[in-house]
Amino acid sequence: MSGDAKKYPFRTLKVSGKRHRVRWDQSMGDLAGNVNHQQLLILISAGMSADEVRETLLHELLHAVCHQQGVDIKEDANRQISIGIFELMRSNPGLADYIFGESDDGSD
Ligand SMILES: [Zn+2]
Repeated sequence: MSGDAKKYPFRTLKVSGKRHRVRWDQSMGDLAGNVNHQQLLILISAGMSADEVRETLLHELLHAVCHQQGVDIKEDANRQISIGIFELMRSNPGLADYIFGESDDGSD
């Protein structure tokens, strides 16, 4: 995997069953990222560190999830929740594997 493919691994991501395109490294002025709910398009700005890119992607995905689920939250709440989830996942390696891993009791 090349450096760019590692930093920008997704061309599309499904949010609540709707495939969103992801355009990386866009020139966007002061914005780190943006999501267009009508076009199902997530834009991530150029010139950020790998961590900033990941945090921005999570932030924009949370906007997309809330929109698709019909939840209206303010920008500040979106920011605080996305930061909290980022720290949660970073502080607990293996948590995502546990939550999304195969069930072992045969039910699903
Ligand atoms: Zn935002």
